[in-house]
Amino acid sequence: MTEASPLSIVIVGGGTAGWMTAAAFGHFLGPGFTVRLIESEQIGTIGVGEATIPQIRMFNDALGIDENQFIRETQATFKLGIEFVGWLRPGSHYMHAFGDVGRPIGLCGFQHYWSRARRLGFGGPTHDYCLNDIAGKQNRMHRGAPLTARNVPEMPHAFHFDAGFYAAFLRRFAEARGVVRTEGRIDEVLRDGEQGNVTGVRLQSGEVVTGDLFIDCSGMRALLMSALGVGYEDWTHWLPCDRALAVPSGRVEDFTPYTRSTAHDAGWQWRIPLQHRTGNGRVYCSSFVSDDDAAASLLAHLDAPALDDPRPIRFTTGRRREAWSHNVIAVGLSSGFLEPLESTSIHLIQSAISRILKFMPGRVQAQADRDEYNRQFTFEMERIRDFIVLHYHLNARDEPFWRACREMALPDSLTHRIELFRANGHIFRDADELFSEVAWFQVMAGQGIVPAGSHALAEAIPETDLKDYMAALNQLYSREAGRYPSHADYIARHCAARPLDAVP
Ligand code: FAD
Repeated sequence: MTEASPLSIVIVGGGTAGWMTAAAFGHFLGPGFTVRLIESEQIGTIGVGEATIPQIRMFNDALGIDENQFIRETQATFKLGIEFVGWLRPGSHYMHAFGDVGRPIGLCGFQHYWSRARRLGFGGPTHDYCLNDIAGKQNRMHRGAPLTARNVPEMPHAFHFDAGFYAAFLRRFAEARGVVRTEGRIDEVLRDGEQGNVTGVRLQSGEVVTGDLFIDCSGMRALLMSALGVGYEDWTHWLPCDRALAVPSGRVEDFTPYTRSTAHDAGWQWRIPLQHRTGNGRVYCSSFVSDDDAAASLLAHLDAPALDDPRPIRFTTGRRREAWSHNVIAVGLSSGFLEPLESTSIHLIQSAISRILKFMPGRVQAQADRDEYNRQFTFEMERIRDFIVLHYHLNARDEPFWRACREMALPDSLTHRIELFRANGHIFRDADELFSEVAWFQVMAGQGIVPAGSHALAEAIPETDLKDYMAALNQLYSREAGRYPSHADYIARHCAARPLDAVP
């Protein structure tokens, strides 16, 4: 009996997508596989992508990565949610916090009680009933079991981290598990004449790297997907921002445990606090504002002096028509790009890796597998797209950009969601979609919708009981959050970066 030769996997690209994929393959695949990653320092990486959502912890846990070490080595801070400033109108703000808002009572989601209270005139905004939100506002953080009362939920959290340190961290992890890195620029993609599969890539040096399965992590260039002629579905009519400027600024002493997203006249600005610096960027629509005006406005709205010149990035929102074609699977920016508004790109990388590991194609690949993979990919992208479009659409701002967003025709799936919530506060999460009922609730409420009615169970409780219940929830969460240490103290005590970690 002859032993099969190992399946050879080639990862093209060494940004966050490439190294996350390499780390996972190095960890999960056994001796029957070889994994090689090719990247070009000359081309470099996109270098942004510093805010995450709580699912990142599942990725780290699955790889056995120690959370304190990870925080230390990537200069990370904790993220409890995203604060949206000015998104409904100038001066407004709300939080999309991770975790629950209020508590469901029996069959009935909290949003039904909240909307009835709002209509009766005593309900506060959703952020009055959310532990993460209240703790975020007090700049406090706690992990693990609650300090006191058993019935207080834990704080779900994600991280802000330095993208460069994260890639370096994952590279060390992957190389220690047998992944081989090749430095070099790919000049040509080679395909077989029969099925059109990719057989190899030719580097500038002349070396040809062959493989059985290729993972396209080449970023927006989408080197392999383009060579296969896989098209791109453009979503600019729903997500019209097409440019960004990124700039680091100095460290802020009392860094907040949340990302801030502030709406401006033709887009928005992010602020991501890290231990050693702050990441900032302006996302904007070039049909409504010039590059110079966007840069001037970005620099005028920093909390600390800029450490560099703003770096321009161009993009087209949308998705690859197929994420798996022939023997190539696209992961990361090569598979599409949504707005960074809800920090979903790194999650999409992680989700693609887990999907690949579920299918784990060998040398002979079935079209049925590809079709199912692509169906799941499309569903995931479209639902996240709807969630992001929601923020833009439900605004009451005056500028031409925002008016255009308000007047645009929506995807039917999103129109349906909004109508359901507007009528009686109903929100239904489809199987496997990323954002939960609570996430949709916070954004729809934050963007100004108060449902016209509620579930009959919520309408049935006496008004005084409802009033007491809402007040008690707010007091409970405020008291609990008040017991947590400050974010900066917490990091200093458990996971502060050492000076050495600041050196790439
Ligand atoms: P890249 O980082 O571009 O890596 C591409 C790799 O391919 C590089 O190593 C490059 O050298 C290599 N390569 C390309 N061509 C060749 C070639 N010919 N030969 C050899 N190598 C080649 N995501 C989040 O989750 N949270 C955020 O807060 C967030 N903010 C963002 C803000 C902006 C403005 C943008 C544009 C994106 C943001 N993202 C965010 C997305 C995130 O940055 C990316 O998903 C992530 O960095 C993955 O990028 P990548 O690895 O796919 O591509």
